[in-house]
Amino acid sequence: MPDELAHFETLAIRTQTPVSAEREHSVPLYLTSSFRFDDAEHARALFTEEIAGNIYSRYANPNTDEFIRKLCLLEGAEDGIATASGMSAVFTAIAARVSAGDHVLASRALFGSTHQLFTRILPKWGVTSDYADASDPASWARLVRPTTKLIFIETPSNPGLELLDLRWLGEFASSRGIPLVVDNCFATPYLQQPLALGANVVIHSATKYIDGQGRALGGAIVGDASYITDCRFFARHTGPAMSAFNAWLLSKSLETLAVRMDRHCANALALAQHFEGHPALSAVRYPFLASHPQHNLARAQMQQGGGIVALELRGGLMAGQAVLNGVRMVSHSANLGDTRTIITHPASTTHSKLSAAERSAVGISDGLIRVSVGLEHVSDIIADVEQALARVPIV
Ligand SMILES: *Cc1c(COP(=O)(O)O)cnc(C)c1O
Repeated sequence: MPDELAHFETLAIRTQTPVSAEREHSVPLYLTSSFRFDDAEHARALFTEEIAGNIYSRYANPNTDEFIRKLCLLEGAEDGIATASGMSAVFTAIAARVSAGDHVLASRALFGSTHQLFTRILPKWGVTSDYADASDPASWARLVRPTTKLIFIETPSNPGLELLDLRWLGEFASSRGIPLVVDNCFATPYLQQPLALGANVVIHSATKYIDGQGRALGGAIVGDASYITDCRFFARHTGPAMSAFNAWLLSKSLETLAVRMDRHCANALALAQHFEGHPALSAVRYPFLASHPQHNLARAQMQQGGGIVALELRGGLMAGQAVLNGVRMVSHSANLGDTRTIITHPASTTHSKLSAAERSAVGISDGLIRVSVGLEHVSDIIADVEQALARVPIV
C-alpha cells in the first residue's frame, strides 16, 4: 500500500491476507488446525524458523496473522501475538518475562482479574508485586526494585476512569531499563497510542471495543520485537491461541473501529454532559469533561474521551440497585464496549472480590455505576437512564 494511504481507517480496512486462487474480495475463514509441507526440507526450514509460514494453528493461522498484523499497524508496533482472551494476553505478557524472585510494579486501579493475578496467582510462583499510587509520582520511584521486571498499567482505569501520564511513566521506566506494559483496552489505538508516548508493550482485551458487538473473546500483545519474541515462545508452548473464527471476526471488526469509536465517544460525552449536576448524582466522571481531575492529561494523550462514563450516586448501594433495576432498554450486564449500552455495578460484580478497603483505594464506591455508552440513538440512551435515575430517592 502506498505510504500516503496509510491512515488509520485505511490500514484497518486494507490490511488483508493475500487473495487466494478463488479471487475472494472479503478474506475467508481458514478453519484448519494444521498446514501441509511441500517436502521434508520445507518442513525442516519451517520448524527451525529459517522461513516463515504456516505450520499449526496454535502457532499461527492466516486469520490470526491478519488480525495481529493489522493491530500492529494501528498501534505502531514492531510485532505482536493474538491470544484467546484479554486475560490470556495479560498473563502471557507477564509470565513470559518473570521468574521466581522477580517483582512487578503496577498501577492500583486494575481490571478485577488482573488484580487477582497479581495478588493470588503470581505469588504461588514467587513473583511479587506492588501497586503505586496514581496520584503520587514519587510512589513509583519508592516501590521500584532491582528485581522489577516490568511496569504494568491501565489508563484510563476500569471503572474509575483514573488516568496515568504515559509520557512520564515511559521516561521513568526507560530510565531504569524496565519495560512499560499498558492495557489499552478502554482507549483502543484509535484514541490513544501508548507506544508512541514511550510504552514498550500494549495489551488488549479484543472482547471489548475491538469486537465492539458483544460476540467474541480475544486478546492481543503488541510492541517491542524482543518482548514479543518471549511472549510468542511462551504462548506457542502453553497454548492460549486465538481461534481462527474469532480472529476472522475480530479482523473484520477492526475495519469499523474508527467509526464506532467516534460515535461511542460522541454519545458518551453527550450523556456525561447531560447528567452532570443531576440531583441524584454526587459526580459524573468522564475524561473529556472539564470537571475530570485529569482533564488536561486526557486532552494531551487521548484523541477523545472514550465510551465509558462513571456515575456516582449519592444514595450508595440502594440507589445503585434502584438504577440497575429501573432501566428499560439499557442492558444490565458485565461486558463493555458493545453496540448496546450496558450498565454495571462494579462493587457487587466485577470488583466484588476486592475488599471494601481495596475498592475505596481505587475509587469504587458502593454507589458507582459504570455506563458503557452504546451506539443506540443518544436521546434514547439518555431518556432511559433519566427515567431510572428518577426512581432514586433524593438523599
Ligand atoms: C475485560 C478486560 C480485560 C480482560 O479481557 P477478557 O477478554 O475478558 O479476558 C482486561 N483488561 C481490561 C481493562 C478489561 O476491560
